[in-house]
Amino acid sequence: MKAITILKPNQMKLLEVEKPVITEPDQVLVKIRATGICGSDVHVYHGTNPYASYPRVIGHEAAGEIEAVGENVTDLKPGDGVVLEPITYCGECYACRNGHHNVCRELKVLGCIADGTFREYMVVPRSQVYPFDPSRMSYVQAAVCEPYTIAAQANWRGDVRPGDKVLVHGAGPIGLLTADIAKSRGATVIVSEPNESRLAMAKNFGADYGVNPRKEDLDEFIGKLTQGEGVNVVFEAAGIPALISHAVHILSPAGRFVAMTYGKEPVPINFKEINAKELTILGTRHQYQKFPEIIEQLPERLDRVDELITHVFPVEKYEEAFAVLEDKESGAGKVVLTF
Ligand code: MN
Repeated sequence: MKAITILKPNQMKLLEVEKPVITEPDQVLVKIRATGICGSDVHVYHGTNPYASYPRVIGHEAAGEIEAVGENVTDLKPGDGVVLEPITYCGECYACRNGHHNVCRELKVLGCIADGTFREYMVVPRSQVYPFDPSRMSYVQAAVCEPYTIAAQANWRGDVRPGDKVLVHGAGPIGLLTADIAKSRGATVIVSEPNESRLAMAKNFGADYGVNPRKEDLDEFIGKLTQGEGVNVVFEAAGIPALISHAVHILSPAGRFVAMTYGKEPVPINFKEINAKELTILGTRHQYQKFPEIIEQLPERLDRVDELITHVFPVEKYEEAFAVLEDKESGAGKVVLTF
């Protein structure tokens, strides 16, 4: 079978490897049908993902078809559609005991520190797949469940409430989906993005207002919109750590800042403002138990899913797929590989 492997940073190959077999009674064999390329896969490819090890089969956004099941698996059968859970955890450490399995000390992430979904077949425990109805969404569409779960997790972390004024920095796929979920939670959503074509997309993903911060004064815009109170939640999905320093100025009292990216340069933060306004600074990483709700909701979001997926390539064209995704002028949203 075929598997896209990063041998070492900047060296990607489509390898022919052995098809895996079920060895435990609780396992399932999944034929991967569609798998999305994430920004984090590009980081693993180029050696800039801080968690990655090599060689690595990348990919963690996938939908497939059950090909075979172990003897203890009674609720799935060959031909059933499933979406894959990209993380595994120990269930015993402090984070797991407190419901934060996604930051488990033994966390394994497909495509990063365990081999991922850019391959034709995978064997995983039954607990690592979620069934979906392929008559309600295609495999390509279902591959977008995973990035939507990231957006759902971020909104849960930021505790977005009806009536909140929410600012999302960045209209890449994750920023767009975060805006979309915030809107569905009843918020008024502002998206800030310097790329005009991405900013235009934001309107269809829940943005009530789109601001190009290179052309318009974002602080002034927020000041007017909120009568000087400030926004209630800021999501940093642009990859610019300094935006946390900015956020403490433009958040309202009792506001929340959610860090969604992982730039590592340290940035100054004004503690006085954090205390004076009793701000909450939050991280968000992966997701925990968000797949069932997203699989349920996605068929109602297919207009957005289809707009997000700008390119679909057969796996053999993986080099072209990565080139399109990395070309800032290509207009690429989500790029999906099919088997
Ligand atoms: Mn992803």
